[in-house]
Amino acid sequence: MSTTSVSIVGGGLSGLAAALAVVRGGGHARVYERRGESGARFHGDFQGLENWSTEGDVLEEIASFGIEPTFDHTPFRECVFFDPDGREHVCRSQEPLWYLVRRGTDVGTLDQALEAQALAAGVDIEFGQTVEHLPEGGIVAYGPRRVDAIAVGHVFPTDRADGAFGAVSDRLAPGGYAYLLICRGRATVATCMFGDFHNDKQYLARTVEFFEKSVGLRLQDARAFGGFGNMSPEANVRRGKLTADGSGAFDFLQVPVPTPGSPIREARIEGVSLSFLIRGKSLLIPKLAGTFEGSQVDGTGEIIQALSPRYSSMTFLLRIRNPFEGRVGMLFDMLSKNAKNANLRIVGTLTAPRGEFQFF
Ligand SMILES: Cc1cc2nc3c(=O)[nH]c(=O)nc-3n(C[C@H](O)[C@H](O)[C@H](O)COP(=O)(O)OP(=O)(O)OC[C@H]3O[C@@H](n4cnc5c(N)ncnc54)[C@H](O)[C@@H]3O)c2cc1C
Repeated sequence: MSTTSVSIVGGGLSGLAAALAVVRGGGHARVYERRGESGARFHGDFQGLENWSTEGDVLEEIASFGIEPTFDHTPFRECVFFDPDGREHVCRSQEPLWYLVRRGTDVGTLDQALEAQALAAGVDIEFGQTVEHLPEGGIVAYGPRRVDAIAVGHVFPTDRADGAFGAVSDRLAPGGYAYLLICRGRATVATCMFGDFHNDKQYLARTVEFFEKSVGLRLQDARAFGGFGNMSPEANVRRGKLTADGSGAFDFLQVPVPTPGSPIREARIEGVSLSFLIRGKSLLIPKLAGTFEGSQVDGTGEIIQALSPRYSSMTFLLRIRNPFEGRVGMLFDMLSKNAKNANLRIVGTLTAPRGEFQFF
């Protein structure tokens, strides 16, 4: 039996996660990474694995993709926010609001953990290889190409207790937010700006001063860092001018069903083939076919605002043939997992409009 081989450009989180999925699905993955190691675009700064917008736990979610939490991660259940007038708001949750992780090339970072898992799983990673095109097809995961937002800040050691502080203010971060994250003797303070990039030093200085005054930040032995991100879709898509038709095939589509009481936790539709239309900002799927636990599935789907995850919602109407009786309708709302980096997360309900059904 021949093994599917998939080429992937970019050895960041997306590329490595895709490579692990390919290998777990029985294929072979080759990743081309232009830098010397994964995570070299980051500097030991803290980031959050967002966990507040859905019922499930993000670590369980990534475990379902075959990614183990072998990276340093600390759950945060409390955060202090400052509004533009400097008023303090405390946000608490029983479940973690997010897991704090470190990015970069040090031991314990998310990037290095994923790289190690990918290598251990048999993924080939070719470091120092810049690839712009994949003539044979494959997965493009090379990160942001345009700059919509920049973040500048410092990482530094501290003896302060763990804590998370955020501030929304154009004085500190035009169109964005400033943050101070402290965890296990390390800290990151930064401003994440969506405009006026030329004055980044001034905004960072104000951010540091703000946290000094409001929460007693003491910057020492600090190392500067910076990064950028691309959050908005292409201009034509934003204006709703894109038109495209196509078709595709997936080994499987896996959709979590976190609804309490649902008899299944996720629907894994195998051998999927579909046709799609992009009209304006919507992605229409007039035809989808596959199998669910051996039964034939056919249906249609629509993702409105497909490229604006903060606003997008997804509806799939799937008919599952024998052994299920009647018609099973599935309605999934796609919400933004994290609007900042456009990671999508799916929240759904499963309903059986008539008849009963059983999942074996
Ligand atoms: C300062 C900062 C703070 C952030 N905070 C958060 C946060 O708290 N929570 C959160 O969820 N997200 C956060 N993000 C966003 C998050 O870092 C990104 O969404 C994520 O890293 C994207 O992963 P990626 O694999 O898609 O891209 P990248 O991490 O950019 O990886 C792409 C890889 O492709 C490689 N590459 C590029 N071009 C080529 C090429 N032509 N050939 C071969 N290789 C190539 C690059 O070297 C890189 O290793 C933050 C980003 C920044 C900059």
